[in-house]
Amino acid sequence: MNQTQTGAAVLINVDDHEATRYVRKRVLEKAGFQVHDAENGTAALRLVDEKRPDLVLMDVHLPDIDGIEVTRRLKSHPRTAAVLVLQISASAITAPQATAALNTGADGYLVEPVDPDVLVATVRSLLRLRAVERALNNVNQELADKNVELTRVNQALRRSNEDLERFAYIGSHDLQEPLRNITTHIQLLDRLSGDRFSESERQLFAVIENGALRMSTLISDVLAYSGIAQQQPSLQPTSLDDSLALALQDLSESVAAADANVTFEPLPSVMGDAAQLGRVFQNLIANSIKYATPGVPPCVHISAERESGGDVLVRVKDNGIGIGAEHLEKIFEPFKRLHGRDIPGNGIGLALCRRIIESHGGRIWVDSREGEGSTFLFTLRPAAQAVSHR
Ligand code: ADP
Repeated sequence: MNQTQTGAAVLINVDDHEATRYVRKRVLEKAGFQVHDAENGTAALRLVDEKRPDLVLMDVHLPDIDGIEVTRRLKSHPRTAAVLVLQISASAITAPQATAALNTGADGYLVEPVDPDVLVATVRSLLRLRAVERALNNVNQELADKNVELTRVNQALRRSNEDLERFAYIGSHDLQEPLRNITTHIQLLDRLSGDRFSESERQLFAVIENGALRMSTLISDVLAYSGIAQQQPSLQPTSLDDSLALALQDLSESVAAADANVTFEPLPSVMGDAAQLGRVFQNLIANSIKYATPGVPPCVHISAERESGGDVLVRVKDNGIGIGAEHLEKIFEPFKRLHGRDIPGNGIGLALCRRIIESHGGRIWVDSREGEGSTFLFTLRPAAQAVSHR
C-alpha cells in the first residue's frame, strides 16, 4: 500500500465534471486522505503509474477512455492490479452496465448522487478489506516459508538419523571383535593356567568374563536394532505358527528352567519376515518369563484374530508382575528399563519389537496393570490381503 509518511491512504479522484471532482476531493481530504485529481481516463492511468495510489475513485463516463475500460486496464496489469477501484456512475445506469463494471474487476460500486458520508465509509471499508487481505497474504506467505523450512529440517534430520544408524551399526560391528578377543583369552588363561591362581583371583576373571559377555549381548542387540533400520524386511506370506515355533525352540531352556506354561492357538499367515517375527515372539515370551510374579510359575498364552479393518491382531498374554500405566509407552523406547541389575536385560528388546512391527506396517502396544499381568498386542497384514494387492 502506497500510503504517505503520515499514514494517509493515497486516492485518485477521476471525474470529468470539475465541480463534482472538487466537492469529492474536499470531502475525502477532510476525511484524512491524500487526493490527486484526474479529469479523464488517460490522466487517470498516468497518475496511477506516478502516484501508486491505494484506491481510484472512478467515474464511469469519461470523455476519452470510459471508466470501465480504464478499470480493465488497471486490473489486467500486474503492476496496478492491486489498486482498489471504486466506480461511480450516473443514476441512469442499467443493471447489466453495473454488472459489467464489477465484472471488469471494480472492487466497489456507487451510484450518483453519492452521499459524502457513504462515500467516505465505502472508501474506508474497501481499504480495511484490502489491509486484511494483505495481512492474510503475509500470513500465508509466512506459512509457506515455514513449510519449506520444515521440509528442509526434516530432510536434514532424516539424513542425520540415517548417519547415526549407520554409525551405530558399524561401531557395534567393530567393537565385537576386540571383545571376543578379551573373552577368548580370559577363558584360555583360565583353562591353561587356572591352577596357578587363587580362588579370589579366579573370581576376578569371572567378573571380567561376565562383564565382557554382558557387553557383547548389548552390542549384538544394538547391532540388531540398528541392523533392522538398515534393511527393509522382505515381506512374504509367512506362517506365524512357524515364527512362534522358531522362538520356542530358542527359548526351550529358559521355559523349562522357569517351569513356564506356554500355550498357543493356531495362528494365521501374515506378510512378514519369518526370522524377524520369530524375534518378536522370542523377546515377548522371554520377557513374560523374566518378569514373572515371584513364586508363581509363568503362564504365557499366544493368540491371534482378524480385526474389523482386516489386519491380524496378535496377543501375547502373561500372568507376570504387570506394568504401571505411566510406563506403558516408555518401555518401547531403546534402553528404557523399569528394573535394575537383579533382572538381566539392556532395554533393547521391546524397542527392537517395535521397530520390526513398524517396518512390517503394523503397530505394537501393551495392555497391563501393575500386579495383574500384561498383554502385548501387535498388528500385521494378513498374507491373503497383501497377495491379492499384487
Ligand atoms: P529388558 O527386558 O532388556 O529390560 P525390554 O525392552 O524387553 O528390555 O523391556 C523394557 C522394560 O519393560 C523391562 O525392563 C521391563 O521393566 C518391562 N517389561 C517388558 N516386558 C514385560 C512384561 N511381560 N511384564 C512386565 N514388565 C515388562
